[in-house]
Amino acid sequence: MAPAQNPISSKHVAVIGAGASGLIAARELHREGHTVVVFEREKQVGGLWIYSPKSESDPLGLDPTRPIVHSSVYESLRTNLPRECMGFRDFPFVPCVDDFSRDSRRYPSHREVLAYLQDFAREFKIEEMVRFETEVVRVETVDGKWRVRSKNSDDLSKDEIFDAVVVCSGHYTEPYVAHIPGIKSWPGKQIHSHNYRVPGPFKNEVVVVIGNFASGADISRDVAKVAKEVHIASRGSEASTYEKLSVPTNNLWIHSEIETACDDGSIFFKNGKAVHADTVVYCTGYKYKFPFLETNGYMSIDDNRVEPLYKHVFPPALAPGLSFVGLPGMGIQFVMFEIQSKWVAAILSGRVTLPAPEKMMEDLIASYAMLEALGIPKRHTHKLGKIQSKYLDWVAEECGCQLVEPWRTQQVDRGYGRLVSNPENYRDEWDDDDLIKEAYEDFASKKLISFLPSYFPESGR
Ligand SMILES: Cc1cc2nc3c(=O)[nH]c(=O)nc-3n(C[C@H](O)[C@H](O)[C@H](O)COP(=O)(O)OP(=O)(O)OC[C@H]3O[C@@H](n4cnc5c(N)ncnc54)[C@H](O)[C@@H]3O)c2cc1C
Repeated sequence: MAPAQNPISSKHVAVIGAGASGLIAARELHREGHTVVVFEREKQVGGLWIYSPKSESDPLGLDPTRPIVHSSVYESLRTNLPRECMGFRDFPFVPCVDDFSRDSRRYPSHREVLAYLQDFAREFKIEEMVRFETEVVRVETVDGKWRVRSKNSDDLSKDEIFDAVVVCSGHYTEPYVAHIPGIKSWPGKQIHSHNYRVPGPFKNEVVVVIGNFASGADISRDVAKVAKEVHIASRGSEASTYEKLSVPTNNLWIHSEIETACDDGSIFFKNGKAVHADTVVYCTGYKYKFPFLETNGYMSIDDNRVEPLYKHVFPPALAPGLSFVGLPGMGIQFVMFEIQSKWVAAILSGRVTLPAPEKMMEDLIASYAMLEALGIPKRHTHKLGKIQSKYLDWVAEECGCQLVEPWRTQQVDRGYGRLVSNPENYRDEWDDDDLIKEAYEDFASKKLISFLPSYFPESGR
């Protein structure tokens, strides 16, 4: 940790977004002694976890003028991580055993995550800091401060000056649509998972789902309940891959990636097989986008790399006034938001200092060179994968907070392993009772819980 040279000071900070990252950023900033205004364009906290049956008018999300629906959650979505490792550290995401309206499963539905975030906001009085139905439309630096222009539900604009802005606006709203040769003349329907809600519209269809990780695995099985056939195109699989999967509906196949789409409606896979499909569902991920941010060209997004961004949080020449919480995807999310937020709060108060901008740039250039040397594509810059725990330990040490508990990382690794080996039932059949026990013993030792859930290994379920 770099020792502070300055006395601790309180800043006036704008937080953009009241999803999981904005809520924890607001709490950590407030705890550090800053005054906080959270801007949220929705009517409630929760961000991604606010399910809406509505989807966007353009199913692929390519039309830049389309009205945005923020959430990408589908009706049947359950978490892809066990709840113990998901929650914030001093507010564990444990079942509410005495409230039967809540979902006590280890991998609960999206509604339970929203309820948890609402509980968190209530517990730490965060809603008092939030301006709902207020969209930030422009952020720019003026004389060393930050001007935030927002627009409320009456379409009234307001400019305000802040010492700092923390961007927590999420990055699962702007679809990334993988290119398929020949798709322009292919006559079927196309939809990105961002706009997928329920399987009904795919009844009796032949559907090709592109992508086989969390969303692809879920959506293909959801659609298979009503579709005639579902064919998953999996980029990670060998070119010869062709397998009928053992699912109750008996209508699901996995293939290697798509070779080409043709104007007669057929889709050819690299394994030489072809299907005549009605719909293609793209589960191919998302793009970063910050339409409100004006940095006079200093920051840019190139091939999904947000640059320049020291440790995925601070743009060197604009730090510490501008920061980003929540950019790296996958792995432990909420705890990463928490540790990044503690760092931002500590830097803004002067308790911890950042290196000089040129030193941060040197570090960044070295990290980009390292990615290139390892053959990691630019678009995966913010996918930390296996190095997430090392990254989080670095940030935690920098701001003097507790390192991530090893059981959390182990739960993520074992959970993802099960997702790959048993996508049908990985949420309900697990092999890590030891890690559940460790998690609950940890919560109990910190006096964070007073009961155990039914699936706790010693509760005799
Ligand atoms: C399908 C899916 C499933 C997932 N499952 C899991 C899981 O099981 N476990 C897990 O830990 N993570 C999961 N994630 C990752 C998840 O996105 C994060 O856990 C987390 O909820 C993201 O929080 P966030 O605050 O960064 O973004 P969001 O939740 O998207 O919140 C951003 C907020 O900013 C607001 N906003 C945006 N722009 C503006 C603006 N200009 N002005 C004002 N407000 C604005 C939005 O309205 C929104 O409320 C999943 C992601 C997806 C897409």
